[in-house]
Amino acid sequence: MENCIFCKIANGEIPSERVYENDFLFAIKDLHPRAPKHLLLIPKVHVEKFADLDDENLAMELYRAIQEIVKEQEITDFKLQVNNGARAGQEVMHLHIHIMGY
Ligand code: AMP
Ligand code: ZN
Repeated sequence: MENCIFCKIANGEIPSERVYENDFLFAIKDLHPRAPKHLLLIPKVHVEKFADLDDENLAMELYRAIQEIVKEQEITDFKLQVNNGARAGQEVMHLHIHIMGY
């Protein structure tokens, strides 16, 4: 998707430090962390928002990735957040899951 910052990060147009990656998704550090370990889990395909996620395999990949990431990063206490829609605070219109670790 043109002009989508997370698509640009996904395809390497914008450099990023990836803390996790597989064929379907990747995780980066949030630019403006609101927790000691604030990560963003981002699918590589452009899905605008959580309500549009209709690929069960991708949903399962996201779920599995969260569990692996927190294990790898030794995060025991964390919050997950998905903002769906602008009025709920979604600024980047490419699905992402905030993993906020403490
Ligand atoms: P949301 O409000 O749910 O759309 O969250 C978007 C998040 O993306 C915010 O927490 C931003 O700090 C973060 N963000 C925006 N641009 C970048 C970037 N280039 N690299 C890392 N995080 C970013
Ligand atoms: Zn996108």
